[in-house]
Amino acid sequence: MKKSMIAVGCCSMMLAGFFSCNRVQDVATDLLISDEEEIKLGRQYKAQIEADDDEYPLYTAKTGYSDDVVDYIDSIGQNIARHQDDRDIEFTFTVIDNDSVVNAFAVPGGFVYIYTGLIKSARNEAEIAGVLAHEIGHITNRHGAKQMVKQYGIDLLLDVLVGDSSAIRTVMDISSGLLFLNYSRENEFQADSCSVEYLVKTGYNPSGMKTFLEFLADMGGGTAPKLLQFLSTHPPTDERITAVARIIGRKSSDVRSRSIPDVKYTP
Ligand code: ZN
Repeated sequence: MKKSMIAVGCCSMMLAGFFSCNRVQDVATDLLISDEEEIKLGRQYKAQIEADDDEYPLYTAKTGYSDDVVDYIDSIGQNIARHQDDRDIEFTFTVIDNDSVVNAFAVPGGFVYIYTGLIKSARNEAEIAGVLAHEIGHITNRHGAKQMVKQYGIDLLLDVLVGDSSAIRTVMDISSGLLFLNYSRENEFQADSCSVEYLVKTGYNPSGMKTFLEFLADMGGGTAPKLLQFLSTHPPTDERITAVARIIGRKSSDVRSRSIPDVKYTP
């Protein structure tokens, strides 16, 4: 009897961690990699990503790109970033020109990327805001930095920071994919939870995150490889929808009935 009560205590605590935006202390990352160092590592990734025109073609490099789209994404992202108070760093939002990829990702240090395919698929601004808030949540919780420490070890990362060329080649090799993006389930649920909290603080109807997940689930859940990358790099959508719905359900009816702005600018 006693044993099962302990088990319940342990699991509900674990669930609370799963579904809460509160940052979980990670001594290795928090003590050994400062904000400045994380930003420095992130800038090196950013340079690698933006030099790879085939895999990550920048929307601003496209002939006839629209400043309105760039400004629109930046203004949504910056607005959310200003309203969260979990982490005081600068955020950058960059659009990648690929209509067949419905995805967004966050690089350590405050760099968020969103594909034109996702902007076009989103039905309204609250959905785009939901995705950007999710990526901001990965950064405020240092998920990428923690993953890098786990993947490469602190010594190798410090070698990168002092400019060791072989360490840079190993860690910054983006040709095999962005390895630090293999977030855990806990990380994904936490970023979803942050997304809801940040949307509420910014003034959005938080249902954007939920309706976008539902939209992805309706599209067939990961059967079209490139199209649904957002799903393949994230845990089962049904579980995420349930978890997000539960968090939204706890918000006031005023928050839940906020009007939802339509998408104004499409690439
Ligand atoms: Zn994520």
